[in-house]
Amino acid sequence: MERIRFSLSESEAPTTWYNIAADLPGPALAPALNPETMQPLTRAEMAHTMPEQLIEQELSTEREIEIPEEVRRIYAMWRPSPLFRARRLERELGTPARIYYKYEGGAPTGSHKPNTAIPQAYYNKLAGKTGLVTETGAGQWGSATALAASFFEMTAKVYMVKVSFEQKPYRRALMETYGATCVPSPSNETEVGRTILKNDPDCPGSLGIATSEALEAFAQDPSLGYVLGSAANHVLLHQTIIGQEALRQMELAEDYPDLVIGCSGGGSNLAGLTFPFLGEQLRGGRPVRVIAVEPAACPTLTRGTVAYDYADTGRLGPLFRMHTLGHEFVPPAVHAGGLRAHGIGPLISRCVEDGLIEATAVAQTACFEAGVQFARSEGIVPAPESTHAIRVAIDEALRCREEGTSKAILFGLSGHGHFDLAAYDKYFAGTLADDNPDDELLARAASGIPQVDQA
Ligand SMILES: *Cc1c(COP(=O)(O)O)cnc(C)c1O
Repeated sequence: MERIRFSLSESEAPTTWYNIAADLPGPALAPALNPETMQPLTRAEMAHTMPEQLIEQELSTEREIEIPEEVRRIYAMWRPSPLFRARRLERELGTPARIYYKYEGGAPTGSHKPNTAIPQAYYNKLAGKTGLVTETGAGQWGSATALAASFFEMTAKVYMVKVSFEQKPYRRALMETYGATCVPSPSNETEVGRTILKNDPDCPGSLGIATSEALEAFAQDPSLGYVLGSAANHVLLHQTIIGQEALRQMELAEDYPDLVIGCSGGGSNLAGLTFPFLGEQLRGGRPVRVIAVEPAACPTLTRGTVAYDYADTGRLGPLFRMHTLGHEFVPPAVHAGGLRAHGIGPLISRCVEDGLIEATAVAQTACFEAGVQFARSEGIVPAPESTHAIRVAIDEALRCREEGTSKAILFGLSGHGHFDLAAYDKYFAGTLADDNPDDELLARAASGIPQVDQA
């Protein structure tokens, strides 16, 4: 038997997102803070940047949240996404482990990002917005925003981290194909961008900088809605469509994962796949071991601090209590652009603090090695981000071989790498660097984390 596919029909598709805030033990999640007053952000303040329904979701402690019919109809264009058992990879590794992966690359833009771009565009449209503005790292989020905007007949403007803009010209072309405008960041279009370029004309950009630019553009045009690619509670919520489906698909497989693994940038695909399984555990069901995998070059969970910090370099947006490397940290230009984030979703941070999720960091060449091995056995060329999850899944499967134990391992294959073949080329040429920021560099970035008195 080659790879086995566990498919759900459209009528078996989940109709709700899962909100882990309903099941987390202990105190409520620390609130976001207003950057001017350093007081908890009020609903009225949130209403400046978010439609009512998204605020509701951001703060909700309801367990099940209904997916609007219009959103479900669009999801059904490519969902439920397949869950595969990787029989060829298992054979190649000679492992007794059962390896499963949930594949999000079948979405029109090639990753999990449209799962949240679609509902965010939908709610913004309902609120009367005619366009969307956002930032993007590797271009996956920008593409998803462009797609969602085109489905809802809205405009889209995307500030794209400059290093990725240059590395991935086809991502820009994809956004333009959907009708969006894509601007390399830092740009001369905003105050934040101009200030940064004055000090550092060759600045490669960062997600934090691009976020500041998008927020500034948003603040100047009330017809625009600002949409978020990761980290926020409501984004993680929308992504749980992945794990809600995977729970049912594991039932079809008559199996249950001992281990669930996801790559981690802002934490949305990781949360999306793992939260529904963690929810089962928190409600007294079967326990799972969950591993978040991040790049060694941007070690937010493994070497960061838990503190209130800004999500954006320009300090325009709210502060979140999260693992952070400091909002001034500009990560090395690794090819997993979607994982170059100095902070992470507060819900992921909380799960790591509570011992529900473990974190590990891996070097990019070891990830590409795993990605190539996966492509040659399973046929799918993974996104550089996804190779982080594959690396750890393979290592765990090899450990099973050594120990002679048979575990079920499920990992998130968050996207395909068809736009990332230049990075594969570099890997084959042996020119990929393994950056490992030293303690001094991290300490310098961490010194920029604001001192906030916590109640
Ligand atoms: C954006 C992206 C990621 C990282 O973002 P998360 O919010 O951490 O999921 C991972 N994989 C792919 C393919 C992406 O596009």
